[in-house]
Amino acid sequence: MSVLDSKIPDGPLKDKWTNHKNHINLVNPANKRNIDIIVVGTGLAGGSAAASLAEMGYNVKSFCYQDSPRRAHSIAAQGGINAAKNYQNDGDSVYRLFYDTVKGGDYRSREGNVHRLAEVSGNIIDQCVAQGVPFGRDYGGLLDNRSFGGVLVSRTFYAKGQTGQQLLLGAYSALNRQIAKGKVTMYNRHEMVELVKVNGKARGIIARNLETGELERHSAHAVVIASGGYGNVFFLSTNAMGSNATAAWKIHKKGAHFANPCYTQIHPTCIPRSGDHQSKLTLMSESLRNDGRIWVPKNMEDVLAIREGKLMPIDLSEEQRDYYLERMYPAFGNLVPRDVASRAAKERCDAGYGVNKTGEAVYLDFTSAIQRYGKQEAAIARIKSPSDEEILKLGEAVIESKYGNLFQMYEKIVAENPYKTPMMIYPAVHYTMGGVWVDYNLMTSVEGCYCIGEANFSDHGSNRLGASALMQGLADGYFVLPYTIGDYLSKEISTGAIANDSAEFIQAEREVSDRIDKLMNIKGTKTVDHFHKLLGKVMWEYVGMARNEEGLKKAMKEIKKIRTDFWNDVRIPGDKSSFNPELGKAGRVADFLELGELFAKDALHRNESCGGHFREESVELDGEQKGEAKRNDEDYAYVAAWEYKGEPADAILHKEELEFKDIELKQRSYK
Ligand SMILES: Cc1cc2nc3c(=O)[nH]c(=O)nc-3n(C[C@H](O)[C@H](O)[C@H](O)COP(=O)(O)OP(=O)(O)OC[C@H]3O[C@@H](n4cnc5c(N)ncnc54)[C@H](O)[C@@H]3O)c2cc1C
Repeated sequence: MSVLDSKIPDGPLKDKWTNHKNHINLVNPANKRNIDIIVVGTGLAGGSAAASLAEMGYNVKSFCYQDSPRRAHSIAAQGGINAAKNYQNDGDSVYRLFYDTVKGGDYRSREGNVHRLAEVSGNIIDQCVAQGVPFGRDYGGLLDNRSFGGVLVSRTFYAKGQTGQQLLLGAYSALNRQIAKGKVTMYNRHEMVELVKVNGKARGIIARNLETGELERHSAHAVVIASGGYGNVFFLSTNAMGSNATAAWKIHKKGAHFANPCYTQIHPTCIPRSGDHQSKLTLMSESLRNDGRIWVPKNMEDVLAIREGKLMPIDLSEEQRDYYLERMYPAFGNLVPRDVASRAAKERCDAGYGVNKTGEAVYLDFTSAIQRYGKQEAAIARIKSPSDEEILKLGEAVIESKYGNLFQMYEKIVAENPYKTPMMIYPAVHYTMGGVWVDYNLMTSVEGCYCIGEANFSDHGSNRLGASALMQGLADGYFVLPYTIGDYLSKEISTGAIANDSAEFIQAEREVSDRIDKLMNIKGTKTVDHFHKLLGKVMWEYVGMARNEEGLKKAMKEIKKIRTDFWNDVRIPGDKSSFNPELGKAGRVADFLELGELFAKDALHRNESCGGHFREESVELDGEQKGEAKRNDEDYAYVAAWEYKGEPADAILHKEELEFKDIELKQRSYK
């Protein structure tokens, strides 16, 4: 067991980042022109990093598997991005954002990183506004904010329910400018399938041209992985269908430790599953909890009548409804953090109160908000004694202006009008807080290999607060990596161009080629999806919202068996030398089948409940917090970073002890 060096600078928390920037080495402009950087990923993290590094003068090679950088999964982000601007004058500050994020993450993140994130959050908004990102504005034309879970202030900047799309178009335009200038070479439809190390340093990648099947060697002085999260290890998630772990897993196998793989976020407000045929789940943004109230019927006979279609939810009076979050958590109500809201929904549904046919749905109801806004608008319009219809119409118009596209999406999928009848929602896998271990400079445990955005483990501890992923991705890409990578590259100014015909490149390419041949030659009987679904079922059942020792041990065994079966019986149609999406998917599922086992192993070793990781053995038994998750700071206040040793079950644990000097470790209460 070893202790990892997080390289968090000394000194007072609030000065760490400034002092660090003041003292790290720089690369002069002329030398930057001789340095190449590979960035894998063009989402908010990779796109912003590539654009910034090129703007600074480095030569950047940028990779994505989609046909365009702007199709990265970040485009799907809905609700908003946090920043400590205090525009609402509601008492927000850098410290509060820092505090909320550490508390929200259930005290399993680094103080130094999170404070830096809060410090640069304001710059992100300025940067994006300068790019023309059309954030929502208030009546007076100033930037508007809304609230997200786990906080008592309004600090979330948004562009309707399309914040990710607008932010990505901003980053993409910055990236495109550099492509046009020749400072970024863009490789669309290229998948990174291997990391190349020379003398222990990351020196390039092997990429597969997905259109021709050709393998290509790309060299650089540093490699940045910005490949997003691995929620699709569950098969069903809110992530884009293509989101995957391959780039992160490949660097893990080449020496990058993988941290806290079991920290997964299950989002409370997603459209419930409708059956086994589904391959994707849809998020209903957390922003909806600003105005939507969550409830199930109080009485079992009403639940049964609703399920049988004999009763409509709108027929139930206020007294017949259980607004369970408002009842259980009066201080935060419907805006408790995601892990708390998800577990509460599961608890109600497990107790039999689920309102759809599968018993896995609760209501998200906008009736009160429509009434409240309707009356407010009528008053503004000086309508005396407005009729019920007028109030409804005015109220619905406000809701439409705030969440119109989300309501439309819901109606298209569920075929019910959420203005008239409450939405049905249920928790679903959404985000992975775990990921590649990085130090304060965002460097992995492979020298010269960096990891940013959702792909790294960094700032969210064991639970991410809403609207903090976009903040972290853009902080990493625009404001952190561009500084910290220079410290490393300052030692590379005399290295010269990196050859891509060295033995290491040839060997790496051969390994990839052999792996592809092995996959193609299995010629089994089952589709790739067949194995992915089996994996997803095991993950959801034993490694999902609630975990216990017996289930986790079973999961490890079952995942290993599915992996063996996959390598004996998968069938990949087509050939390797042309566009073959099934082959690409097979490689990604092969990696998920390894990651899934490490995920379960990590969940098994962490015998405490924290954030999104809920161990049934670790629950408060008495007092006000009875039934809530029980953390164990004495034994588990560390980052678990796993070193690859062949089989996932053999991975070695390295602990990075977490120090809390500026925040007192407390039980997380939202009551
Ligand atoms: C439906 C939904 C809504 C969300 N809403 C919000 C929100 O409102 N606020 C918030 O803060 N967060 C939100 N999130 C989370 C947030 O969107 C993501 O965490 C974030 O966008 C991830 O950005 P990224 O740049 O790290 O990765 P991505 O955007 O996932 O980009 C990954 C990139 O890596 C590339 N890539 C991956 N593997 C390879 C490979 N092997 N080779 C080459 N390229 C590769 C892809 O092509 C892509 O360009 C939401 C998430 C979902 C699923």
